[in-house]
Amino acid sequence: MRNVQPKASHYVGGAYADDTAGAAIDVTYAATGEKVARLHAATPAIVEQALAAAEAARREWAALPGVERGRVLRRAADLLRERNRELSEIETIDTGKPLQETLVADAASAADALEWFGGIAAAVRGEHVQLGSDWAYTIREPLGVCVGIGAWNYPTQIAAWKAAPALACGNTMVFKPSEETPLCALKLAEILTEAGAPAGVFNVVQGRGDVGAALITDPRVAKVSLTGSVPTGRKVYAAAAEGMRHVTMELGGKSPMLVFDDADIDAAVGGAILGNFYSSGQICSNGTRVFVQSGIKEAFLERLTERLQGVVMGDPLDEAVNFGPLVSEAQLQKVLGHIEAGVAEGATLVTGGKRVQRDGWYVEPTVFADVADGMSIAREEIFGPVASVLTFEDEAEGIARANATSFGLAAGVFTADLARAHRVAAAFEAGTCWINTYNLTPVEIGFGGSKQSGIGRENGLGAIEHFSQLKTVYVGMGGVDAPY
Ligand code: NDP
Repeated sequence: MRNVQPKASHYVGGAYADDTAGAAIDVTYAATGEKVARLHAATPAIVEQALAAAEAARREWAALPGVERGRVLRRAADLLRERNRELSEIETIDTGKPLQETLVADAASAADALEWFGGIAAAVRGEHVQLGSDWAYTIREPLGVCVGIGAWNYPTQIAAWKAAPALACGNTMVFKPSEETPLCALKLAEILTEAGAPAGVFNVVQGRGDVGAALITDPRVAKVSLTGSVPTGRKVYAAAAEGMRHVTMELGGKSPMLVFDDADIDAAVGGAILGNFYSSGQICSNGTRVFVQSGIKEAFLERLTERLQGVVMGDPLDEAVNFGPLVSEAQLQKVLGHIEAGVAEGATLVTGGKRVQRDGWYVEPTVFADVADGMSIAREEIFGPVASVLTFEDEAEGIARANATSFGLAAGVFTADLARAHRVAAAFEAGTCWINTYNLTPVEIGFGGSKQSGIGRENGLGAIEHFSQLKTVYVGMGGVDAPY
């Protein structure tokens, strides 16, 4: 296995930095439990250095023409692509996700974001408003120092989805990865420096929630972008509000997928597989409540169970493997607990349900049928390979039950009836919807949640609005007409 021990734990002011006084963070390979690297949480001194570096860099970076900032991002995109294999292996060792996935979904997605926002950087602009002979214009300005905080499921992608629009707009960033997956963001920082990003433009500090909390309450910070769970989102949003900071909250979900009886059943089963078992189910937008119209329930379950025979479990570094372990033992226990609750509540276990008897933190792909809306497996985010299949009779009922959740991250509909597809998509209370496909999130389109699942959007042009603010300038062209 590749040596993944980084030169140091943090990346501050354009270089690696460390302070071994910080609590140890051990990186374990989820497929074996083997320790593969040791890092240290940021001490207050490292947090201070990172914020000071970002603050010192921000004016000069913001003053560069957008085309020059964009060039740096686009060079970084090229470097990510050139090093895709190395970066994918690190991502696999960091997260346990199969190399078969990371080779196409992680550094590649990060490169897309850097390339796309690199192109947009030169096009960020305000507008001219004629007001008789007076006129006004707007300037789209960066916010300043932004803090990014990431979850562990897509560490490279999350860092890049935040850094790319932030840097394109002229902000600087201090990014804190999840303590579970501290390696990948360091590589992104290294590559941005190599691509020409000035020191301090993108910094990485490691640590747990306390380091995140120290970052978001610092007076130099103008914006916080979090990817994490709803409970963490509430805390981070509240802490950010104290300083009137901008926020983007990419939080959890319990997304519905409605499969109508006229749907292409293989496409719908494919959607359910992508939306429940890719990355061993550790995807925020997963469609974990699979509502199947009652007439096709048996056919759907049969086809799903059949297709799950195609799962190849094993060492995620083996490219033939398409199903890996969960990220940590804690996550494994959490997922097993949800499965136990599903059985206890009376759902039918169609397949899976057990820990796999091998090293590492593997749980079998699990499908429950006869799930009722009130069961915990239909209400709580599991973040593991567990699909709940429910049945519905008609469109109105399907929509009502799909929306009966406090989450609103994503939703999907499978049907051959196009009018119905658009009607259902319009009725979904969710930030990101798919018709006849699931979980595709290219950089060109916005991604994010409604209701408890979040605020703001990543990707697409919307992300520019969330990493900038408008200044209005009124220009008087005549005298000033004062009353006295
Ligand atoms: P957590 O909410 O536990 O943690 C998210 C990040 O926040 C971690 O880096 C964590 O640090 C940090 N953190 C925790 N407490 C605080 C605090 N008080 N102040 C500042 N930072 C804090 O999520 P997970 O890492 O367990 O990730 C899984 C969750 O992320 C799921 O709910 C999933 O749906 C969601 N997610 C959402 C996505 C989206 O785009 N909508 C995409 C991917 C995941 P540490 O863990 O190191 O202590």
